Amino acid sequence: SYPNAKARHLVELARMLVSEYGGEVPNDFDALLRLSGVGRKTANVMQAVAFGQSAMPVDTHVYRVSHRLGLVPSTADTPLKVEKALIKHIPADDLARAHHWLLLHGRYVCTSRKPHCDKCELSNICPKKIENSKLQ
Ligand code: SF4
Repeated sequence: SYPNAKARHLVELARMLVSEYGGEVPNDFDALLRLSGVGRKTANVMQAVAFGQSAMPVDTHVYRVSHRLGLVPSTADTPLKVEKALIKHIPADDLARAHHWLLLHGRYVCTSRKPHCDKCELSNICPKKIENSKLQ
């Protein structure tokens, strides 16, 4: 989506990498955030995936699954609040892997509109599933 805006950001990002970072992608979180088109989620993905650091990128899947499973309080109503709540309880060494677990669970099982609760390995501990079954 938004290919024109993304193309503009990519060109500007490439210029910044060459002019300010010697052609290397910086591994410092604040430096990543300065790059054109890079927000907190992308900077965290870079830290976790490209640089092997402990970070918890919160995308739409991580956000949704964290709430449905009750991993974060209902007051965590922004990606940043979800990120902070998850970081508080998940050991630093497991953060990057946990990000992928939550993301893939949200993409293939706990999907946005119709979660596949009947196939979900977590249905016996999931507050959302328990709440739904009481409604039926
Ligand atoms: S039981 Fe349903 S709502 Fe709960 S995590 Fe699994 S798929 Fe999502």
